[in-house]
Amino acid sequence: MGRFAQLVGNEAARRALQDALSTDSLPGGYLITGAHGTGRAAIASALAIASACTNPLLQPFDSCDQCDSCIRATKGTQPELCHIYPAGESIQIWQFWDRDNRPRGVLSHGLQFAPMVGRRRVFIIHDCEKLTDSAANSLLKVLEEPPPYVLFILIAVHAARVLPTIASRCRQIRVLPVALPILTAHLIDQCKIEPDRAGMLSAYCEGRVGQALTIARNSQAGQEIEAVLAFSQTLPSARRVEALRLAEQMRRLATGLHVLVGEEAPDAAGEEGSEAPKERAARRQQAAVLELMSVFYRDLLAISVAKDTARVVNSDKIEVLTALALRGTPVRWSACIDCIMTAMRRLEANASVPLLTDVLTMKLLDEALT
Ligand SMILES: [Zn+2]
Repeated sequence: MGRFAQLVGNEAARRALQDALSTDSLPGGYLITGAHGTGRAAIASALAIASACTNPLLQPFDSCDQCDSCIRATKGTQPELCHIYPAGESIQIWQFWDRDNRPRGVLSHGLQFAPMVGRRRVFIIHDCEKLTDSAANSLLKVLEEPPPYVLFILIAVHAARVLPTIASRCRQIRVLPVALPILTAHLIDQCKIEPDRAGMLSAYCEGRVGQALTIARNSQAGQEIEAVLAFSQTLPSARRVEALRLAEQMRRLATGLHVLVGEEAPDAAGEEGSEAPKERAARRQQAAVLELMSVFYRDLLAISVAKDTARVVNSDKIEVLTALALRGTPVRWSACIDCIMTAMRRLEANASVPLLTDVLTMKLLDEALT
């Protein structure tokens, strides 16, 4: 990974970047925005490597994969391509500039020297919504007039969540989810996975390339999905007296999801010893369970409405799903989907997880709906 040619989707964004590179008209800073998992980091990385490449391909502009800069970049050892992540909850000023007790500021050490390995020094700042005000303000001047050999790439979910003075000094690139058939083909090609599985992942990730690739490349992710689906399959035939036991099982299931929610985040945050990141991680895990359950019930609905098997996401389980779909009516399955959506909204609004999962299972098993 690392070249524009290996990316999929977002053609307009890629073309804009490649055009700027080939006409040597890069701004001092880019702000790349888009939802988590859409592949913002992959685009940032392709831009960084191409801008530092000493022997780039032209028309379309891309990194050569062979010069010293490119080879080191692929190994993650190109010292002039510098990634800055939040340290705990925020990106702090000492990460950029030397402070008395922390003499390792990357900008203090890198900004004033011309690059030696590649053509540019690139500073990629991840999760820019987490810049503290002082860190953000300290960037303003260098963003306005960086040395000609320096490129800043800022990554955020949305420009509105970044300090306006920062955003206005950057050229913006918006990264969007990719059409599902394109992502499915890309997953089959890149990860050598079964078409059924690729289609399921594309739908589950709603076109977010980065997330889909992470899951597809990790066999544990498959097991996590199977565990949630196996649980979901027990629900349509369960009785109401089992609701609280199943709710308990649903919560336990969530604690076993790691790859699906992005393993690294809870660990990195955990170092700070605060409860808040763990609580957020637990909510993300529960949300992933609900997300997969909603895909499962949408499959039941599609089958029961129109025997519409082409739209079924879990198409490798079509026989089991067809049998289960017959146990209810379209009205029941769409009521179940509504209940899951409500639970997801309440989860996002910080409602109590035990309470909302208890209520959800009781509603899903409500015999009045059958
Ligand atoms: Zn190169």
